[in-house]
Amino acid sequence: MSSTTQSVELSFTDSINSQFDRAAAQLDLSPGLLDQIKTCNATYAVRFGVRIRGDVHVFTGYRSVHSEHISPVKGGIRYASTVHQDEVEALAALMTYKCAVVDIPFGGSKGGLCIDPRQYTEEELELITRRFAYELIKRDLIHPSQNVPAPDMGTSSREMAWIADEYSRFSPTDIDAAACVTGKPVHMAGIAGRTEATGRGVQYALREFFREPMDVKRAGMSGGLDGKRTIVQGLGKVGYHAAKFLAEEDGVKIIAIIERDGGLFDENGLDVESVKQWIQETGGVRGYPDTQFVGAADTLLEEPCDILIPAATEAVIHGLNAARIKAKLIIEAANGPITAGADDVLRDKGTVIIPDLYANAGGVTVSYFEWVKNLSHIRLGRMERRREEARNEMVLAELERLSQAIGESWSLKDTFKKRFLQGADELAMVRSGLDDTMRDALAVMRDLWHDNESVEDLRMAAYMIALQKVARSYESRAM
Ligand code: GLU
Repeated sequence: MSSTTQSVELSFTDSINSQFDRAAAQLDLSPGLLDQIKTCNATYAVRFGVRIRGDVHVFTGYRSVHSEHISPVKGGIRYASTVHQDEVEALAALMTYKCAVVDIPFGGSKGGLCIDPRQYTEEELELITRRFAYELIKRDLIHPSQNVPAPDMGTSSREMAWIADEYSRFSPTDIDAAACVTGKPVHMAGIAGRTEATGRGVQYALREFFREPMDVKRAGMSGGLDGKRTIVQGLGKVGYHAAKFLAEEDGVKIIAIIERDGGLFDENGLDVESVKQWIQETGGVRGYPDTQFVGAADTLLEEPCDILIPAATEAVIHGLNAARIKAKLIIEAANGPITAGADDVLRDKGTVIIPDLYANAGGVTVSYFEWVKNLSHIRLGRMERRREEARNEMVLAELERLSQAIGESWSLKDTFKKRFLQGADELAMVRSGLDDTMRDALAVMRDLWHDNESVEDLRMAAYMIALQKVARSYESRAM
């Protein structure tokens, strides 16, 4: 964001709090209780030195606990040179509301380390991560029943593996140690489908949105996802998976991809997989063959399209560009990509927004499945998969016997048989649980939006649902 933009925008926390206030005004909750929910309970800031390349490098890290109405608290750890306290606290607040909206039994937390990971080697990053983790472990800010981090911007399963290993070194007798962090590699007590989870959640959210023709019409569209002209900002973990699944499985046309070094535009649709490969090989989108390269990539946000997926970072749609955004539907795959001021402008224009606290909840949802798996010490589906297959086999055998008994010579298609016979493995169960979560949560938000004229949009509905749930939880506890 430019400095001119910053001067007219609220801080990230104030932006979230203004959305909070808009929803709170619709609810009958006491000012004191609302204050308790809104307040970030604690932020731990730590500065620590790590010996690298013959000198000591000092790093600043944060772990904020926004709300402990349920334990453990949950939220990712971000690595970026732009990390600062207000950002971490705002993201922790979003975690509280996010978990409540999708019914995940965690309070909200978030962590951040002020670092540009690209400036360090893998060995150096491991040293730094282990040291940061140690600082948090010492204070129970990483703990299976207190505070459970996960990946976020700039971190991945690799950092989570280091954190899990560091925790187990300090708690060798803790049988639940693996549950101290989620998003771990599958071979290290992780869960199938966690890496793709946030992007997959965005896909499921859009599918659910398009199941309701009235909402599709409100967004000035008709029909299903097939052929919808879509722009994606950020081809990181979230944007890449969302774009890939939507293009490959739902027929969505990705007409533009916006990245750090520029953007690509192709009216006929971009091949997400091949663009991703190009970025991995060359470090950016520049030079990608046979496609229009746009240097001022942010102008692509303003291109007319059906669906806009901001999947990078916060405040990319702000007071200065909101009026020029032409997308009919925006799904917030990132946290806080639209400032409160821009949100007002877009609402007045009739742009429909699927808000972050619902849209990107796929990550924490699958984190929850991983945490449950770690505590139960068994892979999902291990007990029931073969039994399910055996029962399906019985049904097919009986159907075939009956068809012969009545003298009809019909048979089931082999492709159907294969799919029907297959019991659910861990990945299938994770996807089913995620789909269920995304469908149910949007259905509740949608009902509130449709049934009450004063509920202006899906964001307001989501905040109202979250606030009510957190309030109920606080009301039943000693303060
Ligand atoms: N960092 C992700 C988010 O912002 C995932 C958090 C988690 O899995 O705990 O939602």
